[in-house]
Amino acid sequence: MSTAVVIDGRKYATDLAERLAGEVAELAASGVQPGLATLLVGDSYPAHAYERRVRRLAERVGCTYVCEHLAGDAPEADALAAVGKFGADPRISGILILRPLPAHISEAALYRALDPVKDIESVHPINAGLLALGRPRYVPSTPASVFYLLDRYLTESGRDPGETYQQSNLVVVGRSANVGKPALMLAMERGATVVSCDEHSHDAGLLYAHTSKADILIVAAGVPGLIQREHVKDGVIAIDVGINAVRDADTGEVRLVGDIDTVEVASRAEAITPVPGGIGPITDVWLLHNTVAAARLARGVGAATC
Ligand code: NDP
Repeated sequence: MSTAVVIDGRKYATDLAERLAGEVAELAASGVQPGLATLLVGDSYPAHAYERRVRRLAERVGCTYVCEHLAGDAPEADALAAVGKFGADPRISGILILRPLPAHISEAALYRALDPVKDIESVHPINAGLLALGRPRYVPSTPASVFYLLDRYLTESGRDPGETYQQSNLVVVGRSANVGKPALMLAMERGATVVSCDEHSHDAGLLYAHTSKADILIVAAGVPGLIQREHVKDGVIAIDVGINAVRDADTGEVRLVGDIDTVEVASRAEAITPVPGGIGPITDVWLLHNTVAAARLARGVGAATC
């Protein structure tokens, strides 16, 4: 039985955060103060957990931080007004709309209302289009983190990432606009042989035929335990993006788990990311990285460094 390398996302995130804090200090010296605004609607546990983490990190690296928290039954007009207010606020360089949104609020309408220069997750149609064309203004934080982690892991384990991708079957499970689709695009840009799976693949009984051929498997479905030992091949590099709140049947406590059964899959993988402590911490930092990039763009002060 092999034992997988458990890739420490927290360590990677700490390195990135230190570099970012230095960059924010340099920018402050030239009179530029990056600012992040988040919009939180309702009481979703993961959305609140994410908001708290991002707030702490923004404060740690020295960015301005503002959160608008609306009640779950707030009308769509209030959410649109909040997005408009952030767009007009000169302290704010980047805006994050936290998901999930209540069903009566249209995600697409909020995305269209974003100022594209402040749309650090590239969900506005203009930015999504640029991303699809391979010319992203901002690479969305989660897929950016997946490939930052993969590139760095491959390099640190003595491989050339470019060559490795070109020789790999790379399977992405989940194709959301925020995570799965941009991950597919980034994988294609790197020259991997790319397969996209979704709920239809699962329901049609096709999912595991694909996951079991993956050299690199990226799972972002939001289904706890979707990927088990028998669904992967020996030596897979398995990246778990899923963050699912599950209640422990015995203690009643809520804890976060991924989409991959970490213990089972680690017994045959080359490397695996844990949940928590894998992609999530890097995503948090990358969001601030994009906020800093947006501040530079708005003020015309050159490219970000990390
Ligand atoms: P969405 O609900 O927007 O999309 C889920 C995707 O997974 C859809 O494409 C869906 O298919 C697919 N899917 C659902 N069930 C299955 C199944 N049984 N088999 C195969 N595919 C399936 O979710 P997100 O992309 O926003 O998030 C996915 C997960 O990643 C969540 O757990 C979320 O919390 C987490 N996440 C983690 C982040 C991080 O930083 N680590 C950041 C963002 C999200 P279809 O298209 O057919 O509906």
